[in-house]
Amino acid sequence: MLGARPRLFTTYIAGVSALGAALFIAVLTVFQGLEVSEFGWPFVVLLPFVVVGERYPLRVPRGADQGVITVSTTFAFAILLSRGTAAAMLALTLSSVAADILLRKPAWKVLFNAAQMTTSVVTAGAVLGLLTGGAPFGAPIELGTRELPAALLAAAAFYGTNVLLTVVAVAWGTQASVIDLLRRDLRFQALTAAVLLSLSPIVAAAADRSLALVPLFVVSMAAVYKSVAIYLEREFQALHDPLTGLPNRGLFTDRVEQAIVASTRLGRRTAVMMIDLDGFKEVNDTLGHPAGDRLLSDIGRRLESTLRQVDTVARLGGDEYGVVLWNVADADAVDPIVAKLRAVIESPFTFGDVTLGVEGSVGVALTPEHGDDAESLIRHADAAMYEAKRTRSGHRVYSGEDSGQTTRMTLIVGLREAIEQGSLVLHYQPKVTLRTGQTLGVEALVRWDQPGRGLVAPDAFIPLAEQTGLMGKLTRYVLDAALAQNARWRRRGLDLRVAVNISARDLQDPGFPALVDGLLRRWELEPWWVELEITESAIMSDPTRALDVLTQLHRMGVVLALDDFGTGTTSLTQLQHLPVDVIKIDKSFVVNLVAGAPDEVIVRTIIDLGRGLGLEVVAEGVESEFLWDRLGSFGCDVAQGFYLSAPVPAAELDAWMAASGRR
Ligand code: C2E
Ligand code: MG
Ligand code: MG
Repeated sequence: MLGARPRLFTTYIAGVSALGAALFIAVLTVFQGLEVSEFGWPFVVLLPFVVVGERYPLRVPRGADQGVITVSTTFAFAILLSRGTAAAMLALTLSSVAADILLRKPAWKVLFNAAQMTTSVVTAGAVLGLLTGGAPFGAPIELGTRELPAALLAAAAFYGTNVLLTVVAVAWGTQASVIDLLRRDLRFQALTAAVLLSLSPIVAAAADRSLALVPLFVVSMAAVYKSVAIYLEREFQALHDPLTGLPNRGLFTDRVEQAIVASTRLGRRTAVMMIDLDGFKEVNDTLGHPAGDRLLSDIGRRLESTLRQVDTVARLGGDEYGVVLWNVADADAVDPIVAKLRAVIESPFTFGDVTLGVEGSVGVALTPEHGDDAESLIRHADAAMYEAKRTRSGHRVYSGEDSGQTTRMTLIVGLREAIEQGSLVLHYQPKVTLRTGQTLGVEALVRWDQPGRGLVAPDAFIPLAEQTGLMGKLTRYVLDAALAQNARWRRRGLDLRVAVNISARDLQDPGFPALVDGLLRRWELEPWWVELEITESAIMSDPTRALDVLTQLHRMGVVLALDDFGTGTTSLTQLQHLPVDVIKIDKSFVVNLVAGAPDEVIVRTIIDLGRGLGLEVVAEGVESEFLWDRLGSFGCDVAQGFYLSAPVPAAELDAWMAASGRR
C-alpha cells in the first residue's frame, strides 16, 4: 500500500519515523539509569488513561486521518508536567503502539504514529524546559502560577507538532494541499485540543497533591468524551446519509468546492462523477427494502474502498451516488477510475441465497472545461449521466453540446411535454409461434423521439416517469396508441394481439381496469386482442392491490402476461394463484442457453412448469436460429427476439410480415 504512494510521501514517513526513534533513544539516554519506579506512582495511575484514550479515539467526521482526537492527550500532558518528558514520552508512545496494534494498523503506520507522539512530547518538553529555565527535555517542574504560561505554550507546541506531522503526511500521501487540509477542520480540532490540554495542569496538580484524586477525573473526562462524541454524532448526522453513512448532498457540494480550490491552486483538475444504478428498482421490489438497503450500503463501501482517501463518495438520494476526485491530470486519467468503479458496482451481490447484479451509469464533468464551481460541475455530471443512460453506454464525459439539456428537471418537463404533444413513438416486435412460424402478436415498446438526438430508449425515462407520477399518463398514451394501431391492422385483416407493458403504478390504480375498458370500446376491440405485460416486481411491490386490479382485468377477458419471468421471486404456488395466461422467460436466461449450462435447466423447468399450469410460454431474447431450434425442441410456445425482428415502427412491421410470409 505504501509502495503505491508518491515518493515524497514515503521519504517523509521514513524521515519522521527515524526522527522519532532518534528522539526516543536520546531522551532515554539523557535520563539513563532510568527505572519505572523512579517515575513514581503518578505514572502508573495516569498510564491507564492514556492507553484507554488511545484505544478509543473520537473521529472527526469531516477530516481524513488527521481528525483523530483522544482524551489520552490530557493525561499524557499531565504526566509531562508532573513527571517530565521521559515519563510522558514512554506513556504516550507505548500506548499508541499498543492501541495501533490492537486496531491492526500496518507496521509503517504504527511506527509513524509512535514517532509522531514521541516528537510531539519531546517538542513540548523542550519548550517547557526552556521557558522554565530547566533542562532542555524538561525534567519535572513544580507547577505554580509562574509556570502556567510556559505550560500552556508547551501544550500549544504539543498540539501544533502533532497536527502538522499528520497533516503533512495526509497532504503528501494524497497530493492535497497542507493549507486546505488545515483549513478543513482546524477550528474544531483546536477547540477540542484546548479543552483537553487545559485540563492537564489540573490533573497534574491533583496528582502531586494526592493520587487518590486522579480517579475522580474519570467522571469529568467521561463527560468531556461523551459531549464531544454527541457533538460529533450530531455533526455527522447533519452531513451524512443515515443508511450508508456516506456524506450527503450538502457535504458533497462542500467537498467539491474544496477540491476545486485545492486543485486549481496546483494547476490541476477536479472531476465530479454522478453514478446512478441500473436495475436497483427490481432488487428493491422483488427482494424487499432490507435487501435494497443492504445493496446500497454495500455499493457505497465498495466505491469508497476503490478511491483514494481525499476523494469523496456521497449518496445523493435513491440509487444515486456522487464522487469527487481531487487533483486529476486530465479527462483521460478519469477513465480507468470510472472503469474500476463500474466493475465494483457490477460484481455480484448476494442476499440470502439469491445472487444479483446491478449496473451503474456514470457521468463525468471536469474543471475548468465543464464549470468552475460545484453547482455547475454537479449539474453537468448529472447531464452526462443521463446521456450515458440514454445511450446505454455506461459512461459519458459531459460534452458541452447539449448544455444542460438532460438534467433531471429538464427531462421531467420534456417527458411531460412529449406525452402531451405525442412525441413518444411505439415500435412493435413480433411474437412468433414456434411450431407454426405464425406471427401471433406484437409487443409495443415505447421510444421517445427527442428532437436532434434521436430515439431515447425506455430504460432512460420509464424509471423517471415512475418516480414523478407521470407513469399513469405514459401508460394511457401507449395503450391508446397501441390499441389504435391494432384497430388499423384489424381493418386490413391482420389478426394480431397487441401487448403493452404496464408498470407497478398502474397496478396500484383502482381506476385502471375502467381505463382499459374505455379504450377497448373506443377502438372497438375484443379484450382478448389485447395483452398486458406485468413484471413480477410490479406485482410484488403491493401484491394485494395489484391482485385486485389483475383479477378485474382478467375477468374482463384481457390477456395477462408475467414479463421477465425468472428474475424475481415468484414461487410456484404464487404463480398458480396469479390470474395470468402467459409467462415470458426473461432474455437473460434465454441468451445463455447453451447445452448443459445451468440456464438450460432453468429454461426447461420454466417451460414445463408453465405448460403444466396451462399457460402460454414465451421466450424473450431469441437472437439466433440455434436458440429458435432449441426452444422449439423444449416445447416452448412462442419466441420473440432479434432473430425474428428487432422492435420496429408499424410500417416496417407490415413489410416484415409480408416478406417473411409469417402471417
Ligand atoms: P421488456 O418488456 O422485457 O421488453 C423487451 C426488451 O428486450 C425490449 O427492450 C426489446 O427491445 C429487447 N429485446 C428484444 N429482443 C431482444 C433480443 O433478441 N435480445 C436482446 N438482448 N434484447 C431484446 P426495450 O424496448 O429497450 O424495452 C426495455 C424495457 O422497457 C421493456 O422490457 C419494458 O420493461 C420497458 N418498456 C418499454 N416500453 C414500455 C411501456 O410502454 N411502458 C412500460 N411501463 N414499460 C415499457
Ligand atoms: Mg415486455
Ligand atoms: Mg421482458
